[in-house]
Amino acid sequence: MKKLIAGNWKMNLNAQKASALALDILKGLDDELPLSKVCDFVVFPPCVHLPPINQVIKSSEMKMALGAQDCSQHETDGAHTGEISAAMLADYGCTYVIVGHSERRQGHGETDAIVKAKAAAAHNAGLTAVICIGETDQEREQGQERDIVSRQLLASLPESSNAVNTVIAYEPVWAIGTGKTAKAEDVAAMHALIREKLSGRSGSSQTPRILYGGSMKPENAAELLATPNVDGGLIGGASLKAEQFLAIGRAVRDS
Ligand code: PEP
Repeated sequence: MKKLIAGNWKMNLNAQKASALALDILKGLDDELPLSKVCDFVVFPPCVHLPPINQVIKSSEMKMALGAQDCSQHETDGAHTGEISAAMLADYGCTYVIVGHSERRQGHGETDAIVKAKAAAAHNAGLTAVICIGETDQEREQGQERDIVSRQLLASLPESSNAVNTVIAYEPVWAIGTGKTAKAEDVAAMHALIREKLSGRSGSSQTPRILYGGSMKPENAAELLATPNVDGGLIGGASLKAEQFLAIGRAVRDS
């Protein structure tokens, strides 16, 4: 399976800069050996920028996919001020949605149960849910990282999850936006654990892709993406610069 290179733009960029970034990435995907032949690419702009970015992507033969950074756990239209349903995101050309990012688990009180409901809503709308899990530095210092990640994983996966409609992003919270990256051997151990839990749950060797996220950049991407059981990256800061985002794809192509 191709590696998935996913760019989480978070709450950044105005409409014009967001469209320019999408265009620059799309231009870069066409270089000497087209990167989209070796990796799948998806970008997650802020919600208000989804319609223009959808247009940019459509006019470029859909060389990358579009995703949203969150969706509502509510599936039926109604009195949910400020919420955006997964079905609405699908209407705007999204095929992916991130759920349970640590910035939402920590900053917005999202529990595993809420993340699971959001992932189920995503599946019902035909979207692939990128379910984020990961331990804090304190949990790692106390040696609890395997228990925390296992619990989050199993409690956040809805019954509807399968290898196609779900992607797991292992993102140690202490590595997000800090410049600190997990050691390749720690990433390998955690991804092996996640893989084992996923195949134990489904009884099949066909499991969702498992991404690593946390300060991935061109300089460390080759090593991280070559680590066993790492099926791609969820990239924050480095996805805001087309050249850096593309360089992470090149790290896969040239390895
Ligand atoms: C993220 O937000 O999911 C992330 C991994 O951010 P960064 O790459 O900036 O650490």
